Amino acid sequence: MRRESREYNYDWMLWSILDHAAKSCDGTKKEYENLCTLIPHFRDVLDALVRHGEPGRLFLNLLSDYCQRCISAHDNGKKVALTSFCVATPILYAFDMVPVCLEAMTVLGTIVLKRGTAEYLDYCCEVGFTETSCSAQRGALGAFLAGLAVRPDIIVCDSPGICDTNANSFAFASSYLDIPFYQLNYPPSLTDERATRYHREDFKNLIVFIQEQTGNTLDEDVLRTVVEETKKQDNLASELLELQRIVPSPVPGIYDLLLYGGKFMTGGLKIYTTLLESMLETVKRNAERGVSGTTSSREKARGLFCYIDHYTTNMRFWDWMDYNEIAHLGSLLFTFWQEGAVYAEDHENETYRIETDTMDTMIDSLADQMSRMPMVKQIRGPYDAPGMWLDDSLGAARLLHADFVAYIGTMGCRNTWGMVKLLARDLENRGIPTMVLYVDAFDDRIASWEAMTDKMDEFIALRRIGL
Ligand code: SF4
Repeated sequence: MRRESREYNYDWMLWSILDHAAKSCDGTKKEYENLCTLIPHFRDVLDALVRHGEPGRLFLNLLSDYCQRCISAHDNGKKVALTSFCVATPILYAFDMVPVCLEAMTVLGTIVLKRGTAEYLDYCCEVGFTETSCSAQRGALGAFLAGLAVRPDIIVCDSPGICDTNANSFAFASSYLDIPFYQLNYPPSLTDERATRYHREDFKNLIVFIQEQTGNTLDEDVLRTVVEETKKQDNLASELLELQRIVPSPVPGIYDLLLYGGKFMTGGLKIYTTLLESMLETVKRNAERGVSGTTSSREKARGLFCYIDHYTTNMRFWDWMDYNEIAHLGSLLFTFWQEGAVYAEDHENETYRIETDTMDTMIDSLADQMSRMPMVKQIRGPYDAPGMWLDDSLGAARLLHADFVAYIGTMGCRNTWGMVKLLARDLENRGIPTMVLYVDAFDDRIASWEAMTDKMDEFIALRRIGL
């Protein structure tokens, strides 16, 4: 890693940029416009959120708050858990810990740093981690391995068997940094009694691990507050997804990122509820007016992303969708499988139910929630088994009236690369145009943003989508 890259901590840089970005919304419109002329490197990413009004500003606040918690955790006497987007945060917040989600930290670096995260990606390999691993973790992991971010007190992941490249990142970090590590395991099935029992026992062992390693205890009242907040958030998300079925979709494309990004970072906290409430208000307004959530209020086509999105600098992916008047119907990261979710119709046995009566019911509810996190649910078993990737993609495509489905992943996605052509074939056989993009969502060096949009343009034109 170059010496100049070691000058500032990665998490501090993110906080510093995002904190200023959040504060830029406090002034008048004129002040904001003048500010934009002075910050050519950050203007586009800032505007990608600010022009969405209150939800955009709330999301900036959430990001700034999240990074602030991260850099000041130890000063505030809090323990830090390095974790994955597949790990639901409520249990960690109930323990009064600071969860630091590697993938979220990577995305933040990818979208706000002009130079991206290449140096940190490569640093992982410099110290011995494999270059064929997932860039979603590696982008930020390099900074943690280099000591350029808060030192975690524990590491928790839940992807062994689902995505081993993900799990290996956390195992490597644990070994390299000598930090206690817990990995939740997942059987290939989800809904049978043995799998449920396994998930719950494993989750209880996680709780024991956290207690032993941090000295923190689980307070029933705190747990109930977090769990009730989670339930409220699930209901808001369900309402939003229900409205997304309308043609044209009243949901602005960027809400996809706001919904799952907010959840991965602050699920169970009030700050995320406030964001969802604000998003829902805008969506309801659009629905009442019968307009699309795109900037032009028009909708030419509807696209569903069957895995993840593309996190190139300045959030250009969502802008591109918006500019082309394509409604973003969400990605796999959009679905959490709470009870009552619109996509769970006729699949009720695949959902989790939050119960707050006793300590045990709350813990079981969170165990069930954790076992249905995006990717953990769909990629754990054969792609075409009930409740897995094909089932969920097909269900969402039909429910949301998708005109096409697209796959974006990373070079490290061995599990999804092994199945994606079959998935695409099966979707095509059912009449849904499906495109596989050979790009890396977090590393533009694999394929440039321009190469990606060329492919998207070509696909949309050739398949006459939206015509
Ligand atoms: S499935 Fe792909 S994107 Fe998801 S964690 Fe694994 S390698 Fe990364």
